[in-house]
Amino acid sequence: MSTSIPATPLNSWQEELIQAIDNPRELLEVLHLPMTLLPAAEAASNLFGLKVPRPFVERMRKGDPNDPLLRQVLPLGDELKESEGYQVDPLQEQNTTADPGLVHKYKSRVLLIAAPNCAINCRYCFRRHFPYQDNNPARAEWLQTFATIAADDNINEVILSGGDPLANSDRQLQWMVDQLAQIAHVKRLRIHTRLPIVIPQRITDATLRWLTSSRLQTIVVLHSNHPAELDDDVANSVKRLRAAHITVLNQAVLLKSVNDDLTTQVSLSERLFDIGALPYYLHLPDKVQATAHFDIQQSEAIALHQQMQSQLSGFLVPKLVKEEPGQSQKTLIF
Ligand SMILES: *Cc1c(COP(=O)(O)O)cnc(C)c1O
Ligand code: SF4
Repeated sequence: MSTSIPATPLNSWQEELIQAIDNPRELLEVLHLPMTLLPAAEAASNLFGLKVPRPFVERMRKGDPNDPLLRQVLPLGDELKESEGYQVDPLQEQNTTADPGLVHKYKSRVLLIAAPNCAINCRYCFRRHFPYQDNNPARAEWLQTFATIAADDNINEVILSGGDPLANSDRQLQWMVDQLAQIAHVKRLRIHTRLPIVIPQRITDATLRWLTSSRLQTIVVLHSNHPAELDDDVANSVKRLRAAHITVLNQAVLLKSVNDDLTTQVSLSERLFDIGALPYYLHLPDKVQATAHFDIQQSEAIALHQQMQSQLSGFLVPKLVKEEPGQSQKTLIF
């Protein structure tokens, strides 16, 4: 592998967004899967649409309905079951948004819904029921939110989340960062994104420009759940971020029949470090309606996490956490 900074990819990421597969029949055809899966896929996608970019589909094994990447995006009949104890908004985020696009639950950091949509629709998503249409502020409304941040000097970090913040244009993101950098007590900018995983060419020169042009220290937290997601194109994008002195971390969700085994978790951590990212969090899934089939017993998660500690260098073991409504931080699980 060469050590020089790789060149900008030529394919346009916007083009890939537009071309994403949103038709269950097409997905099954492309992957040579049986049409017996179609009725359930169509029924479940009426509730939460199918959306998966083609560069991500290309990393799936053809003819395998249990492929771990496919399982994250294929709508299943299981989603139509009502499960007791699973809610639409388990984290009660919808009560915390007094200012446009703002989720302020933790003292030192705020989260901004910096884009109303994602490049991919993950079936396990805890925000699958989020009312994004009510959280798509115009610039004038953002100014109100930035004024709230400016008025609270406990806040030293601003997290761009979504949706997926990188689904927004580089121009808009540059504007937001310019505004945030004017707030003296904000030191850090953190971007939580799955876009460089599903469409690696999203990291353009313009992206690197707004990520590095301000005085803010910048952290990118990738969302990858499986080592098979981390192909050479993803590695190339992470390399570009690292070459721009950006800290790159990863958070994953522990998902039944996707990544709930020791081999997968160990290779995820190893592969992340190989490409230049550190494991940060391993989340237990939230109790979101229509996602119960991904859920894992907490005791099993703890046992798995302990086995990971015996096989991985300490810095390659992500923190096992869950989110509980009303808590002022994520809950560490032992
Ligand atoms: C997860 C989260 C954060 C960031 O928490 P860290 O533990 O610092 O990663 C901030 N705000 C909200 C609402 C969150 O859900
Ligand atoms: S990228 Fe994140 S926010 Fe978007 S659908 Fe997937 S899990 Fe949900």
